[in-house]
Amino acid sequence: MSDEFTDINSMHWQFDLLGSIEIGLAVLDKNFNVLVWNQFMENNSGILPSKIKNKNIFEYFPEIDKEWFLVKTEPVFNLKSPAFIIWEQRPFLFKFDTSRPITSASDFMYQNVTLFPLASLKGDVEQICIVVYDVTDEALNKKGIQSLNKQLQQISRVDGLTGVFNRRYWEETFALEHKRIIRNGQPGAVIMLDIDHFKKVNDTYGHPAGDYIIKTLAEIVKKSVRETDVCGRYGGEEFAILLPETTAENAMVVAERIRTVCEKMVPVYEGTEIRFTVSLGIADFDKKYKDHMVWLEKADQALYKSKEGGRNRVTCY
Ligand code: GH3
Ligand code: MG
Ligand code: MG
Repeated sequence: MSDEFTDINSMHWQFDLLGSIEIGLAVLDKNFNVLVWNQFMENNSGILPSKIKNKNIFEYFPEIDKEWFLVKTEPVFNLKSPAFIIWEQRPFLFKFDTSRPITSASDFMYQNVTLFPLASLKGDVEQICIVVYDVTDEALNKKGIQSLNKQLQQISRVDGLTGVFNRRYWEETFALEHKRIIRNGQPGAVIMLDIDHFKKVNDTYGHPAGDYIIKTLAEIVKKSVRETDVCGRYGGEEFAILLPETTAENAMVVAERIRTVCEKMVPVYEGTEIRFTVSLGIADFDKKYKDHMVWLEKADQALYKSKEGGRNRVTCY
């Protein structure tokens, strides 16, 4: 028997001890043949140590990407430095089932893995030790928090009444788009719209009826634009639409469509018909607009012109 094997055998009582712990231990030689396989590895893989001993690890675990694993273990053998594989990079090294298949939300065990160099007395690294930690609970918790954060982020972007973006998020998007347009020189347009004589709607039919009209308008706006257009509720009954890669002429078509649909529609709130109209202002991008708010201001001025001109109309700046 070689010296290496005597070394390993003399360590046997230590591995007996380690067999009972909830951590996976496997020792591989330079050819990736298995020398040690502890209880945890046996329990989770269903492979007996006697069966896998001196067998190639890739034969038993085809899910391990051989090329990647060689790169990963190279410094462990040659530089004698440990290597780490965390579940966020790779969910697992060995595809094991979860230890609690009924209660767990995952089909497999998430693993953190450490690869330790095992140096012989001469100082050469002839074997590496793979240590496998079951981090399924931790991973699922973190993923749960992440999805919750995503939901919160979504909520903080969207206006509760209408489902379109809120003013803050719309303005952020608008500022980014403004920068992008400056870079790529493509056209872009922005539309501002405001319900006409909305105070009268509230006064005549009540605030909830007013809310219903705001929601109805948001639906009309959403249906009138392309998926790449960005709609936001800019104020109480004011909306802003950003239309990337759109000329003033095409924005005019969109605005006119919204105006006529509002004019023709007869929303019914609690049995009462409520007609409403909107005024719109358009401004297409001009190189002069170094600040995005200057651009928006032009659309607002156009909107003001529509109001001044008698409402229920579209003006292009
Ligand atoms: P104009 O044609 O000049 O726009 O007249 P207007 O009456 O619509 O005037 P303005 O746009 O200044 O008024 C907006 C009104 O919208 C004032 C406010 O009471 C009402 N409002 C703002 N937010 C809400 C809301 O969330 N729900 C309802 N129901 N009303 C709102
Ligand atoms: Mg108004
Ligand atoms: Mg207003």
